[in-house]
Formats: sequence, C-alpha cells, structure tokens
Amino acid sequence: MARSGSPPDTATGLVVALDGPASSGKSTVGEAAARALGYRFCDTGLLYRALAWLALERGVPLDDDERLVALVPELELADDGGGRFRRVRVGGRDVTDLVRGERVDRVVSEVARRPAVRAALLERQRALAAPGRIIMAGRDIGTVVLPDADLKLYLDASVEERARRRAAERGIAPDDPEAAAILADLRRRDAIDSGRAVAPLRIAADATVITTDGRRFEETVAAVVAAIRAAEARRRAARPRRRAAEPPAGDRGPRRRRRSPSRRPARDPARPGHLTLLIRLGAFGARLLARLLARVTVEGDLAGLPRQGPLVLAANHLSNLDGVVIGGWLTPALGRRIHWLAKKEMLAWPIAGRLLAMSSFHAVDRGTGDVEAFRTAQRILEAGNVLFVFPEGTRSRTGALGRAHDGLAALALRTDPPIVPLAVFGTERVWPRGRFPRPGGRVVLRVGTPFRLSELGLPGVGDRRLAKVAATEAIMARIGALLPEAYRGVYAAAVAALEAGQGRGPAPSPTDPDGGAGGISTAGVR
Ligand code: C5P
Repeated sequence: MARSGSPPDTATGLVVALDGPASSGKSTVGEAAARALGYRFCDTGLLYRALAWLALERGVPLDDDERLVALVPELELADDGGGRFRRVRVGGRDVTDLVRGERVDRVVSEVARRPAVRAALLERQRALAAPGRIIMAGRDIGTVVLPDADLKLYLDASVEERARRRAAERGIAPDDPEAAAILADLRRRDAIDSGRAVAPLRIAADATVITTDGRRFEETVAAVVAAIRAAEARRRAARPRRRAAEPPAGDRGPRRRRRSPSRRPARDPARPGHLTLLIRLGAFGARLLARLLARVTVEGDLAGLPRQGPLVLAANHLSNLDGVVIGGWLTPALGRRIHWLAKKEMLAWPIAGRLLAMSSFHAVDRGTGDVEAFRTAQRILEAGNVLFVFPEGTRSRTGALGRAHDGLAALALRTDPPIVPLAVFGTERVWPRGRFPRPGGRVVLRVGTPFRLSELGLPGVGDRRLAKVAATEAIMARIGALLPEAYRGVYAAAVAALEAGQGRGPAPSPTDPDGGAGGISTAGVR
C-alpha cells in the first residue's frame, strides 16, 4: 500500500490496540496500516511464539513457570528501522521464520495461557507502546495491555476463512488433509485463547470490530487506516486549545491521555498484583490500627486462598473498620495486591486519597450506575487480579445484611472468577456508622470457601435478569452463612435454604452460630 502523502502528524499520533483471533490478519494488516500512517507497529504474538519456540529448543516443560519466565530476557524484538517490530531474535539470531512454523503453532497457546508468562511479558509491551504513535497487535491489547488505548480495533473473520488464508499462505490446496488439520488447529487455539483464565481473547467493550470475511487485504488495510484517521480527527476536534498550548513535539514527555482527576483509574487494573512496599506497610498499619481498636479473630482457610488468577473477595459491610480488617489480614495471606472499588469522594481526600490511589483503590461514582466502575472491575479480573467488593454497596443501617446490588453478579456471570465469601462482624460496635471509633470488644473476620457461579447450576440461564437475581442470592447466602444468625438480615431465608442443602453447590465453611458475638443487639447501630 502506498505511503500516505500527508506528513506524520506527531501531535495526533495515537495508541491503537489491534486485537483478533489467530490468522485474522492482524500482523500483516497492522503493519501495512502502520506504514501508510507513519506509525510504529508491534506484533506481540511474536513474543509468545518466540518463548514457546525457545522452550521447545531448550526442553523446558511448557508448564514450568519459573523456567519459562527465566527465558523471557533472551527474547528481543527487532525494529525494521521504521519503528515496526515484526521480527524476533534470540541470542542475536533472527528466529522469526522458525517461530511462525507449525511446531510452534501447536504449543504457543499452552504457553500463552500461563499467568506467570503473561505477567512477565506485560511491562515489555507497555514500555514499547509508551511513546505513542503505535499500532500494537495481539489478543489482549485493548483489554489488558493497553486498556486506555486511544483506539481499539478488533479484526474478526470466521474460522473457515482464516483457515483458508493460512492454507493458501503455506501453498496447501483446500482439499488437502493438511487444510483440514489447519482448520482444526485454529479452532483449538481459538478455544484456548478465549477460554483461558487470564487475559482471554475478548472484544473490548469499547472496540470497533472490523470483519474481514470476503474483503480483500487492501480493503481491510484501508478500513483500519480510515478508522485511525477518523480517531485522530476526533482528537484534534476535541482538543484544539490544548494543542495550541502544547510545547513542540520534541519537548514532550511520554504521551498521556487526559482524564478528569476523579475518573482516572486510581491504579491500573491490569497491573500485575505484586505487593509494593507501600501496600505491605499499609496492610501492617491496618492490622496495627485494628488491634489497637479491638481483639481481632480471623477464621478460615487463609492458606487455601488462590494465589494466582482472577479472584473476587465479597464481604458484608457494617463499619469503616471492615475494609481495614480485611485488607490488613488478607493482603499478606494472598501475597498480592487487592484492587478495591471505593466511593470517589474517598480518593479526593487530601494525602490519604493519594495513598489510597497508589494502593489500588478505584473510584466508583455511587450516584450513577457507573459503567466505568464495572469496566474497571472487569479489567481487574481479566488481568488475573484480585477484586474486592461490598455487594451491598454501603454500610448496613440495621447491622444485618441488606439487599445487594446486582453489579457483582453481572460481572461474575460474565467472567466466572472464583469468589471468596467473607463475613466481618463486631466492627459495628467498635466503629459504628456515623460515630467515632470506640476501642474495645471483639471483631471476627471469617473467610469462606472459594466457589464459582458456574459450579452452582443456577437457574435463569438464557434470562439475564433471572440469572443475576439467582447469582446475587447465591453470593449473599454464602456470605450470610458465615455470619451469626442475627446478622443475616434479608438473606436469612437464603442462608437457611443453603444450609438445609437446598442451595446448590458446595457449602461454605462451617459456621459457629454464636460466633462470640451472637445475640448482638442491633439497637443503636446506625
Ligand atoms: O498472533 P499470533 O497467532 O502470532 O499469536 C500466537 C499466539 O500467541 C496466540 O495463539 C496466543 O495464544 C498468543 N498471544 C497472546 N496474546 C497476545 C498475542 C499472542 O496470548 N497479545
């Protein structure tokens, strides 16, 4: 394709995510569009392919995370001189053609599904995109690697069409048995790439889908170029004053997308979940504070909590102290960052707001049916991270469980993560709603057994509204079952049904109905 006549407009260079299934043409189309626009290009599939190839070469078992991750520093993407990364080297040797072969096709998705591998490659991809003006092709670019990309495109084509193209590329006749094998292999890779727990192949909610069945290559390239040009024009139209005030292109640091402060995700939801010193200190401080205020008992199988992959922690909510106790004890138990959804006012607090933002608190606007919060939560899970939620949304006024919102159920039905029910009680007396803390007394945190909605055989499949009601009830019943009876509130009947064995799926950890705080008077608790 001819290079565009207009000079590259560096001020409007965008970050473009180009995702799609195997053989949808992302790399050839993406590279051609990048050339036409004077953009950089990166084919991230090369990294996964090269890693799989190197593992085969070295005889590294494809499930040995430690040894796979140790190979990552040896992979080197090669620039063609125009900022396009379409070749890969290992130890200085160009292995691009080798990694594109069938041998690697067969195993690459097995390697790419491993959370440790994905985490090891994430920062490398982000660093490449950071200067902007790039098209980055892959599977999870719009959902995980660059969730704030300026433009997200998804190239799609039927599996038959993709198999035909691949066979043609390799000079295989359509009726050759090898063509059938290619089709079967693509189906298998699609299933693994879409079904894996971490960063599965998904169409980002804000992506534009370009279907390529029946289109010629040049037409697809033209469609991608047109989409990028239109996005550049939208940006120019939306930001005239800012551009006038901008320093010359060379003086600018890495480009950043502007958002109003309250809407900026506090911490990248896709950031790997390792514990920073700040978070460790925060958790230590939280335990210290909780212990100054109360005798804290933590019950349940903390060692059995999943230490990898997406996870939801869902708790009842009585007091400001709940989050302190949960964060204080579960952060070290999980050994990874917990992402919290917090009301946006909290993040506006001076100093504390900044610290919260640095510790993975994400703003939720409680006044609206916050679509962005839902997306943030979805991205947290898609990236294989831990999400914490109070399904009731706010502290109980009665001291017992109130009706939960259905946002968590909607999210969990979509992504099916393991959910850990948590119950915390006693906090409402130590730090009552609307009052100052009153030190003394006992606080209990109970950690239930993780479960997935898909294991419960819930009714309502095919009817989204019914499914959400059933899922909400199932989650809240499992939280309620960990609480003493007096705290079960509107879910008392659901807990009774669950305990009577009418509820489906595995029962949560055994409960102690007295719980040391049984018979608590809820009078005076606001
Ligand atoms: O795009 P390509 O087919 O070369 O990618 C090879 C494999 O690498 C894919 O089947 C997928 O398993 C993995 N991959 C990925 N995430 C990306 C790019 C590729 O999981 N961003």
